[in-house]
Amino acid sequence: MLKHVVVLGAGFGGLELVTRLSEAVPDKVRITLIDKNDSFVFGFSKLDVMIGRRTVPEVRMAYREIAKPGVEFRQETVISIDPANRRVVTDAATYEADILVVALGADYDIAATPGLAEDGVEFYSVAGAARAREALAVFEGGAVVVAVLGTFFKCPGAPNETALLVADYLSSRELRESSTIHLVSPLPAPIPISKKTSAAIQAILEERGIEYWPSSRVVRLDPEQHIAHLEDGRELAYDLLLGIPVHCAPDVVLASGLAEDGWIPVDPATFATRFPGVFAVGDVTSAPVPRAGGVAEGEAATVAEVLIAELTGGAEPAPYDGASACYVELGGDLVARIDVNFLSYDTPVAKLSGPTAEFVEEKRRWGSTRAARWFGQVAIPADT
Ligand SMILES: Cc1cc2nc3c(=O)[nH]c(=O)nc-3n(C[C@H](O)[C@H](O)[C@H](O)COP(=O)(O)OP(=O)(O)OC[C@H]3O[C@@H](n4cnc5c(N)ncnc54)[C@H](O)[C@@H]3O)c2cc1C
Repeated sequence: MLKHVVVLGAGFGGLELVTRLSEAVPDKVRITLIDKNDSFVFGFSKLDVMIGRRTVPEVRMAYREIAKPGVEFRQETVISIDPANRRVVTDAATYEADILVVALGADYDIAATPGLAEDGVEFYSVAGAARAREALAVFEGGAVVVAVLGTFFKCPGAPNETALLVADYLSSRELRESSTIHLVSPLPAPIPISKKTSAAIQAILEERGIEYWPSSRVVRLDPEQHIAHLEDGRELAYDLLLGIPVHCAPDVVLASGLAEDGWIPVDPATFATRFPGVFAVGDVTSAPVPRAGGVAEGEAATVAEVLIAELTGGAEPAPYDGASACYVELGGDLVARIDVNFLSYDTPVAKLSGPTAEFVEEKRRWGSTRAARWFGQVAIPADT
């Protein structure tokens, strides 16, 4: 009897999980992969869209391309999850799972920041990145504010990248001299777990004339006056406000009983939830690791190992090791790499290497390898 594995969400976590299961145990599982969208977009591609390097159609990877043994993709919206019975209802069907994996990512709570919808531009969704592109294209110089609006957000490097890429973009349009750029973040440092890495990034921001306001949070925008109001009472005028919205778990997760304090608690060694046969990976969990694609992928690889061992009677796999790398664009066509590990040592680490031009190619390869493994028909080992 094939086990029915139902995977909710075809992002970093869901795609890596189904790829690994399909490669290792195609004769033991029947996998249903569900996502409301018709295509996947890398998080970092949204920055490419925002600054006009690539268009939205160029960065989309269509789920219909997935042709893996035992995997069926369904473009449907999940409307309810019953974790006790491993039953999922979508806008088109009901699924009974032997194993259920929730990889639905994080949603954005735009209304949590009054004025953002009217006068700011969130650039963390594909549609938002496209709107940011339009806003930048008609920008004629002035005050740009890049604001992180919540303390918990995807990809800690992204706000710094955004400010630096916007600086490059404005220079290319000869608008840098007539513009200011503020980076306002509630975090106390660019990468709070590492003083050294934070100091290096801060030095680059300073060198590029970007005003960095750490431990500062914009709580509302005044659309009439174009003023950002900060939690501590300060005000900051803007002509263009690019916002990283407050994150939250998708409503369907909050309504399911899986979440506690807003996110799904998991065993960080196996990503099992408190419901038997139900796992959760990626941004939707409260695992003590950063929210990043590379991290979600590592978590999914761990769940795959756990399931493969269970299905084949193999030895218990090693717990998730928490190691991941992410690339940070630092402007001027330079990319740095941050190697992070939150779990293997007593103290979490984040080591910055570069920036160098070589990492530009490494980052490109990182993306293309994943695109080929997840969407291509050729099996490529995970560590290529
Ligand atoms: C601007 C930006 C830059 C980034 N840069 C990097 C980077 O350089 N490196 C890095 O590692 N990470 C980066 N990230 C973070 C990375 O994109 C996320 O951490 C990662 O996508 C999380 O993976 P996930 O599988 O948990 O969720 P996601 O990849 O978000 O996937 C969740 C999926 O669930 C689907 N879904 C949600 N609700 C429903 C529903 N009700 N029904 C059906 N489907 C649903 C969504 O459509 C989505 O496809 C960046 C993110 C952004 C926004």
